[in-house]
Amino acid sequence: MSTARNLSNSKRIVVKIGSALLVHDDGRLRADWLDALAQDIAALRSSGAEVMIVSSGAIAIGRRLLGLASGPRNRALRLEESQAAAATGQVRLAHAWQETLGQCDVPVAQILLTIEDTEDRRRHLNARNTIGTLLRLGVVPVINENDTIATDEIRFGDNDRLAARVAQMMGADTCVILSDIDGLYTADPTVDDAARHISEVEAVTAEIAAMAGETAGEDGSGGMITKIEAARVALQSGCRLVITDGRDLHPLAALADGAKATWFVSQAEPHTARKRWIAGTLKPEGTITVDAGAANALARGNSLLPAGVTAVDGSFERGDPVIVCDGDGKELARGLVAYGRDDAQRILGRQSGEIENILGYRGREEMIHRDDLVES
Ligand code: GLU
Repeated sequence: MSTARNLSNSKRIVVKIGSALLVHDDGRLRADWLDALAQDIAALRSSGAEVMIVSSGAIAIGRRLLGLASGPRNRALRLEESQAAAATGQVRLAHAWQETLGQCDVPVAQILLTIEDTEDRRRHLNARNTIGTLLRLGVVPVINENDTIATDEIRFGDNDRLAARVAQMMGADTCVILSDIDGLYTADPTVDDAARHISEVEAVTAEIAAMAGETAGEDGSGGMITKIEAARVALQSGCRLVITDGRDLHPLAALADGAKATWFVSQAEPHTARKRWIAGTLKPEGTITVDAGAANALARGNSLLPAGVTAVDGSFERGDPVIVCDGDGKELARGLVAYGRDDAQRILGRQSGEIENILGYRGREEMIHRDDLVES
């Protein structure tokens, strides 16, 4: 198996689990399946990978608990009914993850996101910091859309795209979509005998997107089209995405052993893609001038600390892109700043340990963290 299609070299993985895998038709959880998956996740972590779970299922569980399950399983709920179902089912869902991963001594944390939390730069930075801290502390974040407050216009609506956004935000190298189909086919395999399975895709072309339109997807809200859109987002951020059939027990172990799947392989590394995004795509909102010591530290790949800053200019807010210059106005780097202009002005030239006293809250030690900084 080529390294591009091997789960064992993944360091940071997002695993997306569709409702149809987690929940029986009658709204009960598939407990055996969940326990087996928890063992797979624990095994990935033991091999050194960080794992995030994007779990659907809140609405499917909640609608049964609320008695909204009568009629055909997929009777469309009104928006407020889905939101009520999600609010109810999410408690049960998070508890199930806590129980099952707890048996493998893996702590979990619940994160509920809206599309704005991943797109708005300040919220993006907050979500990224929190999830990053959880990963460092050895916790598995269990993530879902915050359905209660996400109205139609601002919803992801499907967790395929949410999973890709999380992968992008967290610089994951692999995003696994566990589905009820083992990948992408040239046509719908349930109706067309000539449909061929595609095992590797390098770019989401119009031809690939057209194939997705013809392939039946899972019973949830996703379908193959949203998976292809998720692949597009993932590839842009240097993350490979794999779609595989997750219905049997131990689907991640099976994938690691080479189970049938479609791998969307990325040419770039996540780190490179993120840095390209910071350096190229974003419009700078201000300038931070640094002294010679800080300029040297930046050249060695270190973070920018408030102590090395001599002036700030512009009207940037926390999370905005800024230019970093030396005393002669020469551009040294670009990055996402951890403080808004007013706070940055107050802490410039000061030691990181003084920040709390000056600002009245304990912010980040760095003015710009090295992960958010690109040399010019
Ligand atoms: N957020 C929804 C839920 O937990 C799932 C969306 C999806 O299935 O993609 O029920």
